[in-house]
Amino acid sequence: MTRTEEAPVDRKPTMAVPFFRPSITEAEIEQVAECLRSGWLTTGPRVRAFEQRFAEFVGAKNAIAVTSCTAALHLAVEALNLHAGQGVLVPTLTFAATAEVVRYQGAVPILVDCDPASLNMDLADAERKLQAVCSGDIFQGLDPHTVGMIPVHVGGLMMDLGRIDAFARRHGLWVVEDAAHAVPAAYRAGPAHHWRRCGGNTAAVSCFSFYSNKPMTTGEGGMATTDHDELAQRIRRMSLHGLSHDAWDRYSGNGSWDYRIVAPGFKYNLTDIAASLGLNQLERAEAMRRDRQTLAENYLRDLASVDEIELPPRVPDRVHAWHLFPIRLRLNRLAVDRDAFLELLRRRGVACSVHWRPLHLHPYYQEAFGWKEQDFPVATAEWQRLISLPLFPGMREEEQAYVVLVLRDLCRRYGVQKIVTTGRPTQPR
Ligand SMILES: *Cc1c(COP(=O)(O)O)cnc(C)c1O
Repeated sequence: MTRTEEAPVDRKPTMAVPFFRPSITEAEIEQVAECLRSGWLTTGPRVRAFEQRFAEFVGAKNAIAVTSCTAALHLAVEALNLHAGQGVLVPTLTFAATAEVVRYQGAVPILVDCDPASLNMDLADAERKLQAVCSGDIFQGLDPHTVGMIPVHVGGLMMDLGRIDAFARRHGLWVVEDAAHAVPAAYRAGPAHHWRRCGGNTAAVSCFSFYSNKPMTTGEGGMATTDHDELAQRIRRMSLHGLSHDAWDRYSGNGSWDYRIVAPGFKYNLTDIAASLGLNQLERAEAMRRDRQTLAENYLRDLASVDEIELPPRVPDRVHAWHLFPIRLRLNRLAVDRDAFLELLRRRGVACSVHWRPLHLHPYYQEAFGWKEQDFPVATAEWQRLISLPLFPGMREEEQAYVVLVLRDLCRRYGVQKIVTTGRPTQPR
């Protein structure tokens, strides 16, 4: 093909960088093949081993492998006896799953605004929303009694657990953490304190995702960890039709045909096929995190001088999972909005995403609970300038360099000139 004329540069990608590419080794493919050859496909010895190693890895007493983080969250709130009409604090800036599991139980997600720096749930706003519920300013007629909270460690940046603990204790709430992005991730309260790895008794129940583009994957999958044995037992039981534990063993090949149904459970058990992938991914989880950390540091260094872009904060006393690298556009310095900027990136071959349109800007939550934009000023403003850049283990140096190049170029082309007024007209020299 001969080109007779140069295409405009913003229509000519010179490289295609995906938003995410899963990191799967030949050893992992072999492990999955071995599971298929073994003849045992559903929940069995590989799931057991995966649960044990995951529990050791995060420092939890119990781990229950399930089909998704959504399933883990659902089982967690069910085990905590969440029921119809009760209220649960949920950040508005999150994925659908965090709030929908509250609705599964007929309870009310009380949405909370986000902190402008970390994008995690803002506890000051949580306090305001609790008061608004008590005084009947919101949810007229529903009047939910608030029983719990589901913080999300957005992008793998852990929240301040000391502050969550204190908040939850003050209001008598249980805490289920949505740790979909946070493996491995850790937190410490000041240099004198020990590191606490996410999932190691950092909430009543911690819920992880092994969806394809999460920090570690089993294709689809999830894990619930807890140090409370009764919660663990209930979660395990409800993950498989509410069968008694003996009957559960039948799935691992040594139980009896004569099971007992002790509760109307769900069908959320993970397969051995998935677990065989998970076992290997877990071994590489910290190495993959270090890769993401390096990539994040490259972005932080290479984009630091771009005035049109605001970078995610470096927070001390955290091991950051860097599942996401969310930048924010300084819209007052750009002639285009976020959506147009995303389209320009796409045309240049850089696939980005947005995490997320806040829940209060979705029709269901607006129609069912009457939430308005002005109830969440921070999330409403921030999401309109949010972009998640490609970041994944195995991202090549030239891929990242290309993303940086395109970002710099777009900011130069679409950046608004800063007008300096000196009070008197300047003479051309
Ligand atoms: C991906 C995600 C989930 C759901 O995970 P699944 O394993 O797909 O169910 C829940 N919460 C957050 C914050 C997520 O990003």
